[in-house]
Amino acid sequence: MPADQILTGHSIIAGKTVTGRGGAASGVNPATGGKLEPEYSLLDTEQLAAATAAAEEAYASFSTLDPETHAAFLERIADNIEAAGPALIERAMAETGLPEARITGERARTTGQLRLFAAVVRQGDFRGVRVDPAMPERTPMPRADIRQRRIPLGPVAVFGASNFPLAFSTAGGDTASALAAGCPVIVKAHNAHPGTGEITGRAISDAVSSLGLHPGVFSLVYGPGAVIGQALATDPAIKAVGFTGSRSGGMALVNAAANRPEPIPVYAEMSSINPIFVLEGALADDAEALGSAYVTSVTGSSGQLCTAPGLLFAPTGEAGDCFVSAVAQAVKAASGQTMLTQGIASSWQDGVTALAGQPGVELLAAGSEGDTLNAPAPSIYSTDAATFLSNDALQAEIFGAASLVIRYSSVDELADAVQALEGQLTATLHLAEPDYPAARTLLPLLERRAGRILVNGWPTGVEVGHAMVHGGPFPATSDSRTTSVGTLAIDRFLRPVAYQNIPDALLPAPLQQENPWKLNRLLDGSMESAGGNA
Ligand code: NAP
Repeated sequence: MPADQILTGHSIIAGKTVTGRGGAASGVNPATGGKLEPEYSLLDTEQLAAATAAAEEAYASFSTLDPETHAAFLERIADNIEAAGPALIERAMAETGLPEARITGERARTTGQLRLFAAVVRQGDFRGVRVDPAMPERTPMPRADIRQRRIPLGPVAVFGASNFPLAFSTAGGDTASALAAGCPVIVKAHNAHPGTGEITGRAISDAVSSLGLHPGVFSLVYGPGAVIGQALATDPAIKAVGFTGSRSGGMALVNAAANRPEPIPVYAEMSSINPIFVLEGALADDAEALGSAYVTSVTGSSGQLCTAPGLLFAPTGEAGDCFVSAVAQAVKAASGQTMLTQGIASSWQDGVTALAGQPGVELLAAGSEGDTLNAPAPSIYSTDAATFLSNDALQAEIFGAASLVIRYSSVDELADAVQALEGQLTATLHLAEPDYPAARTLLPLLERRAGRILVNGWPTGVEVGHAMVHGGPFPATSDSRTTSVGTLAIDRFLRPVAYQNIPDALLPAPLQQENPWKLNRLLDGSMESAGGNA
């Protein structure tokens, strides 16, 4: 059935469809400018309180769910998203302008990460069980029996991004990791993809009801960020926030959360320009192919990826000249693709105009406009390292297909540039063996600046796994100690509690002496394997 016939146009609060009293808004097809049906009713803040109260009520049962039901819940969400079939794909394409292959791939990533977190829940190490047995004979003081585990923080508010309507939105990484931790979740629906949000929201809500969980485990609320988003982040029931989006939106939430009577953590992924450093040795082979691959990374998904490279450092000299002219040729051959919203396309235009107006910056080359609305021509500018070092405005993120090439003449100049950079999600070196001494100088500097360092690859395309870090120092994120992609993301929504001298019959299952959940535990400082884990 087509999406516009199954969508209700309303919020989902604890399993119920709720018509908002705070006005209405519609999704828009960015390729045509056409309004998409149905119109979405927006909640007022009084209505929002029902979602936060239900989430608080759901905490007691959801946070103590047995691992098998908990994992089956995450798997059911994934199954339901797949069962939504072409309606989900078609709606996401219409709301974002992203092509079918990209949305289909994103759906696989979304269901894959839900299933990965199901495995994490079954395996159980995230519970962080530690046991320091009593030492009654210890002198001069006996030691009490002390046991530690990590418990879910409480209800979590999630703000998804426009550029990943599935993998960083309603059922995306923040939601999956918070639910895996045992936290009820309230998602603030993104107004750029309201129908996609509702279809995935129903997939979660149906999984809640089919497993007989408390309905307050999940709600999806529609309304403006400045009203509903702020009310959500400052509601006393909410104990953490996950956000992906702009620096201004992320910082507004960080500030709101810090100014609450009870401040709470905000895990905001914000802006990053993902520098690429091409060292001399990397140009010995096929500089033309390297230039073309760079442009592919800049222009993929219309440049609307948080890991898209916004800076390219290329050496001066003949080899560097050949490489930069290959970059120029490749961008001339590229054409614009529809951007996510009219607003994002006009911010891109503002950003490019501001960059072009900076002293010492010139246009290297531009491609052609696409044949839909909001599909500007990919553009690459150039400057030299001295100009870059003297002007912080050259570090402003331009979300979309634009990049700045910086010509450098020595490794010392590169090292200065790295130290002048703001925090980044990624930093990439292109090199060959003769460049190892330069790389040894740069790597320790880069790890202070970025969450992920790559060699001879491209930062776009983030693997979801156990070792991935999608994070980094400010302004890439508001908290560099963690990641929003991969299984470590679950740590953001847990806190340790110690239990001292609690009788075994009163201890929670993960800490009981017989270890009924078969968890690995740190016993008196040494890891004790439970053996029987999934
Ligand atoms: P956005 O405008 O910041 O919106 C994200 C969400 O936050 C929306 O639901 C929005 O609601 C809400 N919001 C915005 N301002 C708010 C405020 N003051 N208070 C409460 N909620 C607020 O970002 P976007 O349009 O989705 O994405 C574009 C930007 O995100 C780009 O600049 C890009 O660099 C960045 N991005 C970063 C990453 C990353 O991982 N670092 C990933 C993707 C995108 P309303 O729209 O209703 O206000």
